[in-house]
Amino acid sequence: MEFPLFGQQVAVDLVNTLWAYAGETVDALATVEVADRWLIAVGGNPLGDRGTLLQAAGDEFALRVRDEEFRAALQALRDQVRALLSAAARGEPVDPALLYALSRTAAAAPSRLVAGPGDGERPQVRRVRAGPTAAVVLAALAEDALIMAADPATGTVLACGTAACLGLFVRDDPRRRYCSPACANRSRVARHYDRAKAST
Ligand SMILES: [Zn+2]
Repeated sequence: MEFPLFGQQVAVDLVNTLWAYAGETVDALATVEVADRWLIAVGGNPLGDRGTLLQAAGDEFALRVRDEEFRAALQALRDQVRALLSAAARGEPVDPALLYALSRTAAAAPSRLVAGPGDGERPQVRRVRAGPTAAVVLAALAEDALIMAADPATGTVLACGTAACLGLFVRDDPRRRYCSPACANRSRVARHYDRAKAST
């Protein structure tokens, strides 16, 4: 399975583990095996808090989805983050119960900054978390999502302009309306087809 909407902020990548393909919904967190591959794939991507999931977990061998409990928790968090970022994308208020639930997940593995000398003139700081891997990963993802939803400086999250698509994306260009080139293309073809139909 290829992850189609990939390489954005990790919270957005998490939301995009659910996507639509040829009218079917595909869920990359539906099995332990694929969820594990997803987690390894995003492990080195930067979070908004000066860390990565790999650094938070402290060890690349620890950063694995090995059991059903972790998989189910990751999937449940994905659905919460989807609700959070979708509300943000629509400019709608977020359910306070959802914010409370995400805050609790973030607090389950508290983080601290670790500073060390950098390569250049500035010291390097990174964020590490203490706790079991599942709690650490869920906390880092929940915090990343909350910061994204609260702070416009982290980027505007929008829903894909293609009706059948479930994708969210971070707007890196004011004209961007689609989650992926494939969706932009599909929409162009559909518009062309509508115009051709209207003129006959
Ligand atoms: Zn799309």
